[in-house]
Amino acid sequence: MKLRFSAALVWGSLSVASYAQPANTVLVNGQILSANDKDSRYQALAIRGSRIVSMGSSLQMKSLIGPKTQVVDLKGRTVIPGLIDSHMHAIRAALSYSTEVHWLGVTSIDAALEKLKQAATQVPPGEWLIVAGGWTEEQFKEGRRPTQAEIQQAAPNNPVYVQWMYDWALLNRAGYQALGIQSEADLPGGGKFALDGAGQPTGAIVGGIVPLFDKLPKPNFAQKVAGTQKFFKELNRVGVTGVMDPGGFNMSPTEYAPLFKVWRNKELTVRVNFSYFSQKKDKEFEEFKELTQLLPMGFGDDMLRFNGIGERVAFSMYNNDKATPADQEKLYQIARWAAENGLTLTQHWHEDSSVGTLLDVFDRVHREFPIDKLRWSIAHLNNGTQATFQRMKNLGVAWAMQDAMYLEGDRVLHRHGEKAAEHMPPINTALKVGVKIGAGTDAHRVADYNPFIALRWMLDGKTASGKTLRSTNEIPSRLQALKLYTSGSAWLAHDEKNRGVLEVGKLADLAVLSQDYMRVPLDKMADTHSVLTMVGGTIVHSELQ
Ligand SMILES: [Zn+2]
Repeated sequence: MKLRFSAALVWGSLSVASYAQPANTVLVNGQILSANDKDSRYQALAIRGSRIVSMGSSLQMKSLIGPKTQVVDLKGRTVIPGLIDSHMHAIRAALSYSTEVHWLGVTSIDAALEKLKQAATQVPPGEWLIVAGGWTEEQFKEGRRPTQAEIQQAAPNNPVYVQWMYDWALLNRAGYQALGIQSEADLPGGGKFALDGAGQPTGAIVGGIVPLFDKLPKPNFAQKVAGTQKFFKELNRVGVTGVMDPGGFNMSPTEYAPLFKVWRNKELTVRVNFSYFSQKKDKEFEEFKELTQLLPMGFGDDMLRFNGIGERVAFSMYNNDKATPADQEKLYQIARWAAENGLTLTQHWHEDSSVGTLLDVFDRVHREFPIDKLRWSIAHLNNGTQATFQRMKNLGVAWAMQDAMYLEGDRVLHRHGEKAAEHMPPINTALKVGVKIGAGTDAHRVADYNPFIALRWMLDGKTASGKTLRSTNEIPSRLQALKLYTSGSAWLAHDEKNRGVLEVGKLADLAVLSQDYMRVPLDKMADTHSVLTMVGGTIVHSELQ
């Protein structure tokens, strides 16, 4: 008894009463990074129900171990708070995850073709094999995209579709046949056949990629449900326990049904905060007003919660570099209503040179209905300046920052030069200003969902081809980078009281890593994954015996 009381005094926040019950799970012998304000580190922690009830040394946890307590020996492994991606099109990515072939993280064309070959053995002849983005040639050691002959050889009996960004798609012969494309006139959306140096078609298509993609068969409801479960498990594998989802093109309300089914079945393994992306041009305001009658701000539970509107609010102000007062007025009307009704709003914007037109609207709204407590955010803004971040901070507007330059950086370098690229994105400038930042990826059509690629990018500023883009002035420390992916994103999700740090009383959302995050060489960082992921004290991924 004596020992128990003295331990309780040391830990302060732990009540004596909580000793009476043993913990459900105790993790011992680890390096636990709380990622809190004090950067506290611990050897062990105990979980009861969904929350952390004690942290300290392995010895200190002993009194919480009962006959039914699950004890996990971490063997020195690093534990971090579960990662939260502040901007991932996860709901959409999940819909097709069980029916697409993925080249994320694949490092050569041979390996990519092998994935196609493998996939062809899993489906009957004639069924589509679809690679729908999430890769770029810079990740391949060959430094180029695959050819039609290569994909033809990999899967001669299946139609194959390989998309690169939203700009280019390659089909094999069966693919062209299945879509009934015989000449350029058959291409939707003004697409063109790509030509080689000799003026011969390469088998690829440029332009009109979205309407082309829309011609491909879509997964059925059961496949979408399976994809949702599978994709979220894959996120757990890389240490992700939360996402903020900004909707996307074609993400009408019906596309949310598979997610809701998984949630109703209590099978969600990632906490999802979702916002609604307007789908009806010139009817955006009506759309939002109707939808939110039954979906008020914050509606949901700890696993799934409605987080307002965006990243498209008004069509007229979706990264519009030539915004007119009339364009601004459309956004103003909706944003004013959102502020009046306490809705969070997130806005897609790329260019600092035009972001003032957006912030002018926010300023105007703020004078009528203050927005500084509503946790609005701007996503992307890779070339944001100190003055922009200061304006955002004054309005309480956060920055959802991603690793877009990891895949796009080489092209930006080519187009705008080294000087422009060395600040993209200006992480330390924004940290100095003190604007709230949540890290993420923007996966998965234009980026990889793997947070360890994004973290490595934050820490080394090297693009997929290995070129150093960002200067050391804009490189944060490892702990700072981690915190942007944990407490930073948790703040954007209105949930920093519950998650984002490992502390007594917080939800037990955590990842036990395969490598020491603080010490692993940066060129190995992207190989990191989770060997044990917990969401609210429940194991959602485990590679431990
Ligand atoms: Zn966006």
